[in-house]
Amino acid sequence: MKLAGRVALVTGGASGIGRATAVRLAAEGMSVCVLDIDGDAAAEAADSIGGIAMPCDVTDPDQVETAFGACAAELGGLDLAFLNAGITIDWSGDIGSLDLAQYRRSLAVNVDGVVFGARAAVRTMRTVDGALDRAILATSSLAGLMPWHPDPVYSLGKHAVVGFMRSIAPNLSAEGIAVHTICPGITETGVLGDRRPLVERIGVPVMEPEAIADAVLAALAAPMSSTGTCWVAQHGKPPWPMAFPQVDGPDSRLNVPVNRH
Ligand code: NAD
Repeated sequence: MKLAGRVALVTGGASGIGRATAVRLAAEGMSVCVLDIDGDAAAEAADSIGGIAMPCDVTDPDQVETAFGACAAELGGLDLAFLNAGITIDWSGDIGSLDLAQYRRSLAVNVDGVVFGARAAVRTMRTVDGALDRAILATSSLAGLMPWHPDPVYSLGKHAVVGFMRSIAPNLSAEGIAVHTICPGITETGVLGDRRPLVERIGVPVMEPEAIADAVLAALAAPMSSTGTCWVAQHGKPPWPMAFPQVDGPDSRLNVPVNRH
């Protein structure tokens, strides 16, 4: 899609992957609205790129709806929503000692945050006249494509994001809204915390957040015919589209895109 002169919103945009992507989108000429639960950090990130900031907890559907609407009102539309906020919890991998409050929080941010964000993005995009090249992107993870033993609940939520984004994509293409999922490997951000030496000791290379911004740009440059793609970002490789196996049999006939009209 065309980026220059258009409006982007980034959740979890105050740090890490969200911030690096906000910087890149602004450099491409977009007006960027940074949403984050940390309002001060969001304001600081937005100031650095001439954008605007809004404090917003993506687990609260009312805050999400209000913030997306306010962003569109202030910046004159909404062309790209990047649903990126996410958290990890305990990395012990021991399901027997899973803290249920942490479990709920993980799914609230990683799953509800994407569902509420996609809903608000579509509703907002429908209220403003826009070109037929808009996009909704979400950050999943390699843990959304393969098991991740240290935090199975994170893997649960990130698999959910992949299934959800692939499922909404065909229904939105008639409205000119492309849907893509970004699946990064381990990246140097707040989510990784102080675990970089641990990860590198077992031979897993750590990426910088700018590499994930590259994957976002690759997704945005892709034609509408590739909507629904999961872009894998791995160290030392250009972003590549994940190929999912087909399930044999008649069941996929249920997958007829919904016609709203
Ligand atoms: P990060 O901690 O640097 O950034 C996450 C941002 O989300 C923070 O600014 C945080 O304040 C914000 N946030 C957290 N909860 C929120 C909420 N309820 N509402 C609004 N904002 C909230 O970490 P990051 O690695 O940049 O994370 C961005 C995304 O990338 C996440 O979805 C994460 O799961 C995913 N990811 C990260 C890695 C990695 O290794 N860092 C790998 C794969 C996927």
